Amino acid sequence: MTKQLASSAPDLPHLDLPHMGQVDDPWGGVGEGRLFTGAWVQARGGVIEVKEPATGRVLTLVGRAEAADVRAAAQAARVAQVDWAARAPTARAEVVEEAARVMGGMADTVVRWLMREAGSAGPKAQVEHQHALGFLRHAAAMGQEPQGHILASVPPRRSVAERVPLGVVGVIAPFNFPLVLALRAVAPALAAGNAVVLKPDPRTPVSGGFLIAQAFAAAGLPPGLLHVLPGGADVGQALCADPDIAMITFTGSTGAGRAVGELAGRHLKKVQLELGGKNALVILDDADIDLAARNAAWGAWLHQGQICMSTGRILVHHSLHDDLVTRLAAKARALPVGDPLDGVAIGPLIDPGQVARVDAIVQASVAAGARLVAGGTHDGRCYAPTVLAGVTPGMPAFDEEIFGPVAVVTAFADDDQAVDLANRGQYGLAAGVIGANVDRAVRLGARLRTGHLHINDQTVVAEPQAPFGGMGASGNGSRISGPANWDEFTTWRWTTVQPTAPAYPY
Ligand code: NAD
Repeated sequence: MTKQLASSAPDLPHLDLPHMGQVDDPWGGVGEGRLFTGAWVQARGGVIEVKEPATGRVLTLVGRAEAADVRAAAQAARVAQVDWAARAPTARAEVVEEAARVMGGMADTVVRWLMREAGSAGPKAQVEHQHALGFLRHAAAMGQEPQGHILASVPPRRSVAERVPLGVVGVIAPFNFPLVLALRAVAPALAAGNAVVLKPDPRTPVSGGFLIAQAFAAAGLPPGLLHVLPGGADVGQALCADPDIAMITFTGSTGAGRAVGELAGRHLKKVQLELGGKNALVILDDADIDLAARNAAWGAWLHQGQICMSTGRILVHHSLHDDLVTRLAAKARALPVGDPLDGVAIGPLIDPGQVARVDAIVQASVAAGARLVAGGTHDGRCYAPTVLAGVTPGMPAFDEEIFGPVAVVTAFADDDQAVDLANRGQYGLAAGVIGANVDRAVRLGARLRTGHLHINDQTVVAEPQAPFGGMGASGNGSRISGPANWDEFTTWRWTTVQPTAPAYPY
């Protein structure tokens, strides 16, 4: 890796990525365009140039999978899964625990890849690495949890409902938190006894795929149980149609999720969809304005607003509106923006198409009457933190998920109007309520139609032990993480046992 970077970007002084640590460097000496199938093999579809969002420079070349790679991976995974499922749950957990230990030792590598490949500011990259370890450890704990129930039945029949793995799980992951959003599915799927075929986003195949493969390979995961196939929508579609894949877990946009749900449904697969959001933060009239402004800014701008849980609507009581907007604008102007390697707070958006999309939403909203108080400009892929005030329903900034660093501020007159504004639209992922009277905030929060509710916090909160997922167009009603992992990554097998077969009447 270091070698390839040196040849593709020789003029980067302090930027060489560390060697891949205690595991073999799969790229050095074996050529370009590889996939991971338990070994590093040549992809059928050529190469993908992985570009650094901050500079546009090519970081590395990875293999581009195509449908035939999916077929081969799924077949191999199905074969390998049989022995894996037969292992003691604690034996599987040991491998997942070891992967956590290995990935803990890869901190420097992981953080740098997240900064360079995904455009993550340093603290976001560090938090993502820590969260990845949390998801691995939580999945490992599944090995010590109950695996089913003894059911009431008619003696001497013994009746057992047992959790059994599904077989091969296809994971389709996005670019924004590439490591965590892939791992939160890969780790519990493996721990529960499945094999996995992972398709990372083609813009983040290393942090969203190859680093995971390295950690599990070094942890002793038997070959064939984890495949990493970078590629585009065509590869995702091939996963949805493959006869050897039992379940698809997809994290991404609502549009792509619909296509995935339709195709996987036609092929009778279990489908889990974690989709977009337009998450409201309600700031009540008794809120501490300094804390409210900090929460609104963090929720709207963290990772450039490229988070499904980003605060997409800041709903503020009209008595605090002007003060909040002034504070947000001051923060927007003060935050350093640029290359994450320069220690900025706000890094680049993932690609030029996303910059154009964010800008179009901002400009159309201004044309529709919103007030641009700060930002609204960009330098290359770096979009300035932006504050739009006076935003109302019907404006694109109110209605659409922006996936950019835009604080969208709307005033409300009373609690009923706040609830109405928060619940508008198709999404229902996360909500936050900030206020001094906690009982009142909880009562208001209970009226919001979301899968996550945070009283006295902004909307971007995730923990490995908490069930994650939304209402409405934010998903298909499924949940992932915490107690939901047993539901999602296993199914039930009912077994009865009797000492002798009954003598039926004929
Ligand atoms: P996207 O839907 O374009 O891509 C996500 C993944 O799906 C990528 O791997 C992509 O290659 C693949 N894909 C795209 N079209 C496909 C198709 N037709 N069939 C199969 N696979 C396909 O999403 P994006 O723009 O990269 O990510 C941003 C979106 O993801 C936002 O809407 C965001 O809210 C959402 N997201 C949701 C969560 C969550 O947990 N709810 C988390 C992160 C991001």
